[in-house]
Amino acid sequence: MAYAYDPDNIFAKILRGEIPNDTVLETEHSLAFRDIRPQAPTHVLVIPKGSYVSFDHFARDATEAEILDYMRTIGEVCRMEGVEEDGFRLISNAGGHGVQEVPHLHVHILAGRPLGRMLQ
Ligand code: C5P
Repeated sequence: MAYAYDPDNIFAKILRGEIPNDTVLETEHSLAFRDIRPQAPTHVLVIPKGSYVSFDHFARDATEAEILDYMRTIGEVCRMEGVEEDGFRLISNAGGHGVQEVPHLHVHILAGRPLGRMLQ
């Protein structure tokens, strides 16, 4: 399957510095910033700097260095935000059924309150 990446999506604009963001952590291959519409006391988005639409696209085409950096950045943000003790949730929406609003891979880190049971 070919993944069509839209270079005009809002996170691509953030990566190009065309739109401001509240950065939590920036690494060689990844950027973490606060969600503008937080759903929990901690709501951070982590994106790769590369042009990947979704997690499956990233897993197929990203380099090992990008994948390692991305995973480590997610873990590092969890440590920086101090969410390991009480717990947290990672979500990555993809495509239509996943109700993905921005077509650039992002993982939501949600924490700071009981998040409820997601799957019954
Ligand atoms: O996973 P999904 O694509 O549905 O979510 C996109 C997220 O990006 C939303 O939570 C939205 O609040 C966030 N967003 C943002 N900054 C923007 C545009 C969207 O944090 N400029």
